[in-house]
Amino acid sequence: MNIADQGYKEIFKNSPMAILILSANGPDYSILDVNSAYLEATHTTREFLVGKAVFSVFPTNPTDQNSRNIEKTILSFEEAISTKKSHTMHEYRYDIPIGGTTEFTERYWTTINTPVLGEDGTIAYIIHSPRDVTENVLLQQREKSGIEALKTQRKQLYSTFMQAPVGIGIFKGPDYIVDLINPVLCKLYGKRIEEMIGKPIFEVLSLAKGQGFEELLEQVRTTGEHYEGWAIEVPLIRDGVIEKVYVDFVYEPFYEDDNSISGVIAVASEVSAQIHAKHQLEEAEERARLAADAVELGIYDLNILSGELITSLRFANIFGFDSPAKHNDYTAVIHPEDLHLRVKAHEQAIENGVMNYEARVIWKDGSIHWVRVEGKVLYDKKDNPTRILGTVLDITSQKADKELQRKLITLVDNSVDLMSIFNLEGKFTYINAAGLALLGLATQEEELALPAEGMQNAEDLQFFQQEVLPSVMHNGSWAGKMNVHNFKTGEIIPVFNNCIRIDDFLTGEVLAVGAVMRDLRAELKAKQALADSEQLLRNITTASPTALWMSDTQGKLNYVNQTWIDWSGKAFEDNLEYGWISAVIPEDIKQVIEQFHLAMQNKVQYEVEFRINHADGTQHWCSVIGEQQFNQNGEFTGYIGSCTDITEHKELQNQKDNFLGIASHELKTPVTSLKGYAQVMERILKKKDLNMEADMMRKMDAQLNRLTSLISDLLDVTKINAGKLSFNNQLFDLKPLLEEIVDDLQLTTDRQVIVKNFQPAGKIYADKDRIEQVIINFISNAIKYSPEATEILVHLKQEQHEVIVGIQDFGIGIAPEDHLKVFEQFYRVSGKMQHTFPGLGLGLYISAEFIRKIGGRIWVESKKNEGSCFYFAMPVHTA
Ligand code: ADP
Repeated sequence: MNIADQGYKEIFKNSPMAILILSANGPDYSILDVNSAYLEATHTTREFLVGKAVFSVFPTNPTDQNSRNIEKTILSFEEAISTKKSHTMHEYRYDIPIGGTTEFTERYWTTINTPVLGEDGTIAYIIHSPRDVTENVLLQQREKSGIEALKTQRKQLYSTFMQAPVGIGIFKGPDYIVDLINPVLCKLYGKRIEEMIGKPIFEVLSLAKGQGFEELLEQVRTTGEHYEGWAIEVPLIRDGVIEKVYVDFVYEPFYEDDNSISGVIAVASEVSAQIHAKHQLEEAEERARLAADAVELGIYDLNILSGELITSLRFANIFGFDSPAKHNDYTAVIHPEDLHLRVKAHEQAIENGVMNYEARVIWKDGSIHWVRVEGKVLYDKKDNPTRILGTVLDITSQKADKELQRKLITLVDNSVDLMSIFNLEGKFTYINAAGLALLGLATQEEELALPAEGMQNAEDLQFFQQEVLPSVMHNGSWAGKMNVHNFKTGEIIPVFNNCIRIDDFLTGEVLAVGAVMRDLRAELKAKQALADSEQLLRNITTASPTALWMSDTQGKLNYVNQTWIDWSGKAFEDNLEYGWISAVIPEDIKQVIEQFHLAMQNKVQYEVEFRINHADGTQHWCSVIGEQQFNQNGEFTGYIGSCTDITEHKELQNQKDNFLGIASHELKTPVTSLKGYAQVMERILKKKDLNMEADMMRKMDAQLNRLTSLISDLLDVTKINAGKLSFNNQLFDLKPLLEEIVDDLQLTTDRQVIVKNFQPAGKIYADKDRIEQVIINFISNAIKYSPEATEILVHLKQEQHEVIVGIQDFGIGIAPEDHLKVFEQFYRVSGKMQHTFPGLGLGLYISAEFIRKIGGRIWVESKKNEGSCFYFAMPVHTA
């Protein structure tokens, strides 16, 4: 070998550059030597390579014919040989077989083929030095395909943009220059793409200017916030026509790579068709609603599944609500008796698809209204009922009209008067039941077959035809008495006939004649009966032992009976008005008249006793009772009264009073002496220390005290009855008098404490002794009738112009019905307990007489078992 010496050989062997030394003789170009870097790069061994033709060990990869790598290498060798200069092959593919397999690995190389000249100047061999650039090449390849992909993506995006079914546009800069716009948006705007691209959008869409869109775009562009608008109205010119277009749109900011916003992306789709359809629907609904309103129909929509009920305002109003209410609220106001109708109607609606019922509803104010509910059931695809749509109508007035008509017919049917209508041919067209009965006919048919004139006999018919009918035809009506006859019995029946002409109220043409006839038989009979009973009454009153009288509202007599006429000896007329007064004896006249007028003013019962002179010269006591009278309208009509002779009764009473007077007077003297003896005896016995006997005497004295007071009561009563009471009035203060009486009476009871409850009060003018008697009576009663109580209150006070004394106890009390009666003579409240309380029932009678006679008032306030308070009041006496 004549190549370089051993030193070069070392460099060659250890060079990091892969080197293959080939003979310069083609076509084998056999391998002369190889270094380790080459073996490493090609995954081969020295033994496998050295001495072989180079292309036999590095054949072409059958799957990569395209690279024509052997061909290229040979060309490079030839080039290097012919030019005697290095030749470089750039980044070519030459796959390397994988040892032990038929596979190859893909490899790229940049190889320098350098010819080495021998000493003779010919080419001795070729240095073949490949550099593995596979990584580099593959990277480049990947980059290239990435760019390709980006390119196609961009293409695709663009075509998507252009073919998108919604309108998309990009408007840039503060003038919103149309940067990109797709055909859909162009179409929406009614423009061609060329007309828009590169121009400010509002220059192109001049009508949209000043509608607020500039501000929206500005907002999105400057703030980056996105904006959505739904069904916005945009005025546009399309095909030369101004249109209102409805658009849903979104404005998004358009970001540059540096994240700055350079414009706005608008995505828009036209919804005009939907909006118009919606408007049409709304209009149709509005028309339906107006129509419903016009006929006052309320509308409802009931969801059967959810029970939700949607109603119109009118619906709510018909049910008595101010605004639409809930389903339950509507049900709640249906009249309880009609609820079942509603339930049934709902059931039937589900069955046959139609809803229909009438029911009453009760409004908040309690008024009742009739409603008619109608509706139709809607079904889903599976034929299940889903909704009921329908209407409601207030039919109250219709119902009322019908009701009125029904009532009128019932009225006519049930009227006791004959009611009939006959036509101009003189035939009945209608007659009511009372009419049939009056004429003795069984059925309407029977009657309707007859001529109307059949209901009269010849004479009465003549009257009817000559008097009645002409008047009806001419004047429109006739009213008066006439006769008809009963077909069956032939009886002539007097009637009062109200006959009227019935005209067509539109044309005025005469249609028929109506007659209302009242059977006068009963009335005539009643009149007769009245006359008879009047006669009877007259006979009775004449025969009565009591005088009877009647007055008008002024109190003037307009009737006296025979008895009074007999008593007074004056004629009927002479007793009328005030004529009767001359019979009254002069002393009693004032009282009689005063009392009568007082009663009449208050329209209450009149009761008085007075004396009259009979015609025979005798004087008689009579007791008069007059009852106030009112007519059906409640108006006062005067008095009806009686006058009974009570002379005998008076005489007996006088005798009794005289007897009582004499008896009590006669009793008084011995009782007074007895009292004296008893007191003397008590003292003597006490002195002798006969205490038991003395006590008996004290008790006797106490009984004598009671007897004395009974006798003095009786004497007072006889005085009162005889009208012989006299009073000795003086001006005095009640307080000291009350104090004195209370202190005295406190000694008579151990059980009750008598409490003074005195307030300032004025003086009174009265008989002091009588007042004292009244107070003692009140307090004694209070002690007597409250045996269980521990307290009695004595009140003194002034109220307005009255001084009032009240004695209050907490005893047995008095039932309300006895509050007035306790002041009557000898009246004692009956009942088991009374037996335990001694008394005559005179004390309060006497007290009342006293107080009334000296111009005061007396009364009691009491509740049974709770106690009583007896009062009297006297006017305050101002000098
Ligand atoms: P009497 O002598 O019976 O007490 P009065 O004329 O004083 O007669 O009373 C009449 C009746 O009134 C009595 O019988 C009694 O029934 C009833 N009465 C009077 N004062 C009282 C009182 N303070 N409480 C309950 N009842 C009374």
